[in-house]
Amino acid sequence: MKKMSLLLKISIGFVLGILFGFVVGPVAASSSVLSNYIMPFIDLIGKIFLRLLMMLIVPLVFSSLVAGAASVGDVHKLGRIGIKTLALYLITTAIAIIIGLACGNIFNAGAGMNIPTGLQASAREAKPLVDVILDIFPTNPIASMVNANMLQIIVFALFFGVACILAGERGRKVADFFESIANVMYSVTHIVMNFAPYGVFALISITAAKFGFSILAPFVKVIAAVYIGCALHAVLVYSTMIGMFCKRSPAWYFRGIRESAITAFVTRSSSGSLPVTLSNVRDNLGVSEGVSSFVLPLGATINMDGTALYQGVCALFVAQAFNVPLTLQMQMGIVITATLASVGTAGVPGAGLIMLTLVLTSVGLPIEGIALLAGIDVVLDAARTCVNVMGDTAVCAVVASTEGEELNV
Ligand code: ASP
Repeated sequence: MKKMSLLLKISIGFVLGILFGFVVGPVAASSSVLSNYIMPFIDLIGKIFLRLLMMLIVPLVFSSLVAGAASVGDVHKLGRIGIKTLALYLITTAIAIIIGLACGNIFNAGAGMNIPTGLQASAREAKPLVDVILDIFPTNPIASMVNANMLQIIVFALFFGVACILAGERGRKVADFFESIANVMYSVTHIVMNFAPYGVFALISITAAKFGFSILAPFVKVIAAVYIGCALHAVLVYSTMIGMFCKRSPAWYFRGIRESAITAFVTRSSSGSLPVTLSNVRDNLGVSEGVSSFVLPLGATINMDGTALYQGVCALFVAQAFNVPLTLQMQMGIVITATLASVGTAGVPGAGLIMLTLVLTSVGLPIEGIALLAGIDVVLDAARTCVNVMGDTAVCAVVASTEGEELNV
């Protein structure tokens, strides 16, 4: 018999959890076996799963960001193309989060869920902007790791990764070392994710038992918010870029990259789609090998517009669901952390969900929100990966065009 995929198991865990919670919820209070033994046991399983997720964050983020930054290669040689590419990647990603936040605000998907949380749900006191900026820079990177201060870890990792390139041969060794650690951390993630179907079952069934049917409707809204946001971003941002810099029509662009977009949607992996993306951009759009072989692999590693947009929608959803008021300053914090988190997201299925923990923790939102979103992650991942790959191809075409390359008609 074919082995059931993990994603299917997680989805089953999610659905069974909801059903179990709905059935058991109303009778739990009147049964001492349920309320004294079974429900506390399920609760324990859910809490262990949350801790395992949190355990991953610091080593995973640090190692994958160092490896990602170092994968840029020879900084001097890349020169202008590198700076242009990075700037375009960051700008499009930030726009994507803003669209995500707008969709999250409009759909207001988590409103009325009123889920209480025991953890760090309280909104942070608004700090003066100077302190917010100052806080990004660590004084002691080890302390940042011990305290899981994500922004500081990211900043140090970026310095460290770039320095690995500048340090030449010896730096290469260090970068390789961190790449190995990142790979090992992905394996640890896989081990933890094997536990996800049970963890998701536990967390969602406890929630369903407490809140009943009213928790279903918000998920439909989250999916709609992410899909509409992704469609808007692709149509507005990429069409404009292609029109402005490449002097080509949106139809030319979307027709040219169609296969890579579909591959990304079904594989839910930017890295896995890379061979198709490379061939689409070269054969259909006419970008040179030189530009595409630098811009696209880098994009598959660090440029995740769809993931960033999704993180914007989901951070708002969690804030709404747990009734945490989000100030404008916190929303600005989301734009910054989600931009950086998307840089550190690996181009593999489900990586964005793990990185969402980073965004939530850094703005002080409850990490329990991940459990709510895990069950629908497959649906969200397909759309965000599709936009991730489209973003790489659009930037690639723009860079080629501004470098004077003659694109296909
Ligand atoms: N699956 C996405 C990708 O490969 C990453 C994510 O999970 O957001 O691009």
